Amino acid sequence: MKTSALDRFLRYVRFDTRSDEQSSTFPSTPGQVVLLRALAEELRALGLTDVLMDANSYIMATVAPTPGYERAPVIGFIAHVDTSPEMPGNDVRPIVHERYDGRDLVLPDDPSVVLRADDDPALAAQIGHDIVTASGLTLLGADDKAGVAEIMAAVEYFATKPDAVHGPIRIAFTPDEEVGRGANHFDVHRFGAVCAYTLDGGGRGELEYESFSADAITVTFRGFNTHPGYAKGRMVNAIRMAADFVAALPRTTMSPETTDGYEGYLHPYQVLPSVDRTSVKVLVRDFVTAELKSKEELVQHIAHEVVHRHPGGQVDFAVEESYRNMREVLERHPQVVEYARKAIRLAGMEPIERPIRGGTDGSRLSFMGLPTPNLFAGEHNFHSRLEWVSAQDMDKAVEVIVRLAGVWADDGRAGLPPITAT
Ligand SMILES: [Zn+2]
Repeated sequence: MKTSALDRFLRYVRFDTRSDEQSSTFPSTPGQVVLLRALAEELRALGLTDVLMDANSYIMATVAPTPGYERAPVIGFIAHVDTSPEMPGNDVRPIVHERYDGRDLVLPDDPSVVLRADDDPALAAQIGHDIVTASGLTLLGADDKAGVAEIMAAVEYFATKPDAVHGPIRIAFTPDEEVGRGANHFDVHRFGAVCAYTLDGGGRGELEYESFSADAITVTFRGFNTHPGYAKGRMVNAIRMAADFVAALPRTTMSPETTDGYEGYLHPYQVLPSVDRTSVKVLVRDFVTAELKSKEELVQHIAHEVVHRHPGGQVDFAVEESYRNMREVLERHPQVVEYARKAIRLAGMEPIERPIRGGTDGSRLSFMGLPTPNLFAGEHNFHSRLEWVSAQDMDKAVEVIVRLAGVWADDGRAGLPPITAT
């Protein structure tokens, strides 16, 4: 099935939509609004009549159901327009390497940036496909403009194939996922779907419905500062307490550097130091929400022991919830994942299911009342100058959207008219 996903993708990546953690506006950067406006226009041009951009720049719109399927469950598809603040995202120059034959892909604007099949089994599996990369200076933005392009291509497919069977489909394009705010102002009620799927995953066939449960704990040590020349017996140095604390955290286990699969971790990632007061921010991650509590107790125990060795010192803790494992919600709605599996198989792939060692907007949305697993979009090496996507994977993702809409409209069966090639 050939779709417009590639053409759209090559256009969307040229918009600079890098989000910004430091920004206090929403969306965090104006570039995102420019792309969101353009997408709203494109949706209108495809015949969608209720396209709405709300005060926070979220775009929502409806693909009207096939006549006779008005009562089918309303389902949604969601992608984010922003790119990672960690990497330059301006002046992206996408390059299509046609019919990839396993050669080294040297990115011309910085020839030291080379994609090699030897280092990248997913790339080695793409022989014969058309691979899109950036030019060496920027990320590509397949995360998540591949997802945006796929959803748009599916909308176009539905607009041009009136015989394709589907119920009402809600579309949303969102800002600021990369800075963890993508679900902040998502109006689940107005979206009005029984479930949704983010298109923001990796290689073809991937289906993700488990994420970490995540908190951040800020450990603040308070000491006593005085002129260091006259500090004997008086100064209590909060920096020393924080250093002892970080050194005492588990490191050969329970750290990001030593865990994978279903293992959680504690990760000190930010220190704001001064003699008087030093805070250490620690990420707490586990697939079992109850385990967060025991990890946080461990952090507190270690911090109290440290303070005990520094008379006059004090410590306090602030725990902030980040997100929860979406599986806890999705288990109560098994057909959401089951239908996705079915759609992936109908598109000729075997689902590849693995836990996300992070969170997605879907983790938050699921707990806001919109069960939202994540489907592959074809993204590889995200947040990197070596980011790439294959045009054929993008077409496959479009096909999964089309199939999935069909499965929902057909009540979990798939006795639908076959998908016609465009
Ligand atoms: Zn993403």
